Amino acid sequence: MYEILILKEGYSIREGPDQQKACGTITLIKGLKNTIVDTGNPWDKQLILDGLQKNGLSPEKIDFVVCTHGHSDHIGNLNLFTNSIHIVSNDICVGDSYQLHDFKQGIPYEIDDDVEVISTPGHTGADVSVVVRTHDKGIVTIAGDLFERLEDLEDYTLWQDASEYPELQLKSRMHVLHISDWIVPGHGPMFAVPHEYRQQPKMVMFEYHSRMDSDGSSSEVSSYHVIEED
Ligand SMILES: [Zn+2]
Repeated sequence: MYEILILKEGYSIREGPDQQKACGTITLIKGLKNTIVDTGNPWDKQLILDGLQKNGLSPEKIDFVVCTHGHSDHIGNLNLFTNSIHIVSNDICVGDSYQLHDFKQGIPYEIDDDVEVISTPGHTGADVSVVVRTHDKGIVTIAGDLFERLEDLEDYTLWQDASEYPELQLKSRMHVLHISDWIVPGHGPMFAVPHEYRQQPKMVMFEYHSRMDSDGSSSEVSSYHVIEED
């Protein structure tokens, strides 16, 4: 069985209209096969080495490195892991050898009986999440920026503002809420899936429209609809 260890908790903090501080969560899945999910930004090298050492590991002992998507705060330290199999979005490779795998058809990639990589697109066109069966927390899904943090279940702007494909992301979010006991989000602490979301995931989808007013100026209006999974 597997243990989930957060080497770095992700964050995102607005610092002004055009500026924010952010880094993605870096997670170690420790067990029969050791996996790192997301590798932070390039300034996190020592943090990763220290985190591995604290857990009796070194980069050579990491079997898989999974990057949930290609944004710079999630892929900063891939070259620490030259003995590992790399899965970056939908690409699987060792060295220059690429293995073809049809994530987009919904086929999971099995690292082990208790660890699998699934396609959860939306934040970008090719995100993946890692689903882990643990002994103490049930099913834990390490989801990258599919979830920004717990608060985005209620505050839709937290994830939709950074979403390339909101409709697709919404579907992926509903699926992950449905199958998970806990979620490790991209930019906040790990959280237990609230009961009401696990029972019947319900999501609000917001849409923005520009409206031309009678005086010729334009303004933004929003409308929403509630989506429920059967
Ligand atoms: Zn991202």
